[in-house]
Amino acid sequence: MNTNVSKSGQLEVTGLTKSYQSADNAIDVLRDVSLSLTSGDSLAIIGPSGTGKSTLLHLLGTLDRPDAGSIRIDGVDPFELDELDLSKFRNTHIGFIFQDHHLLPHLNVIENVLIPCLAHGKPTTTHYDRANDLLESVGLSDRFTHLPKQLSGGERERVAIARALLMSPSLILADEPTGNLDRKTADQVTEVLTELPKQHGAILIAVTHSQSLAESLQQRQELIDGKLQPVT
Ligand code: ADP
Repeated sequence: MNTNVSKSGQLEVTGLTKSYQSADNAIDVLRDVSLSLTSGDSLAIIGPSGTGKSTLLHLLGTLDRPDAGSIRIDGVDPFELDELDLSKFRNTHIGFIFQDHHLLPHLNVIENVLIPCLAHGKPTTTHYDRANDLLESVGLSDRFTHLPKQLSGGERERVAIARALLMSPSLILADEPTGNLDRKTADQVTEVLTELPKQHGAILIAVTHSQSLAESLQQRQELIDGKLQPVT
């Protein structure tokens, strides 16, 4: 299948269910999760530990498959793709931001930002220009050649945000992006995280325990008994 589908910036999730089978019983983690978001939307998913937030993020990131229900990103059901097309689709349509940034320690800042394009061969001038622009917009234009260990925690997380945006994904998934940061640094990262995906027309979904990050996003939903419920 041709995975060069246009990025219409749409996420449609319907009736997602997921259970895990353990030695003696099945754990129903997601029972009936539905969502509809479009370009520029942002959603915080909150809830106590163990309620299935990471499970949901993995399914949305196409890293795991649901038992039932469907996910359509930019009009495509990624689970209908074969493994190779799925990984290409994931690489160009979804950006990931992890709590502990997952930067490669031996690569400098700009090389880390360019990682997502390496699946398509050598970075082009367009990729370099975009990486430059993104690093400038996260306030790191004077850190291009630093290694991750030469950066503060907040700077590393901002590199991870720039990296997630490199391929202009429609969907950005963030797992506790401010979880390891002190309050002041978390506030700076929150500001970048709430503004940048919106500027780039991406949908942002963040799993977070941070009230401040949750309140900065447009929508908040809590995962309770396997279902998403709006937080008022
Ligand atoms: P959260 O991110 O909200 O803390 P998770 O999605 O990590 O929750 O986990 C939800 C539930 O599913 C937990 O009870 C956890 O023990 C269980 N679980 C998660 N992954 C697996 C797995 N691979 N196999 C079995 N059980 C799992």
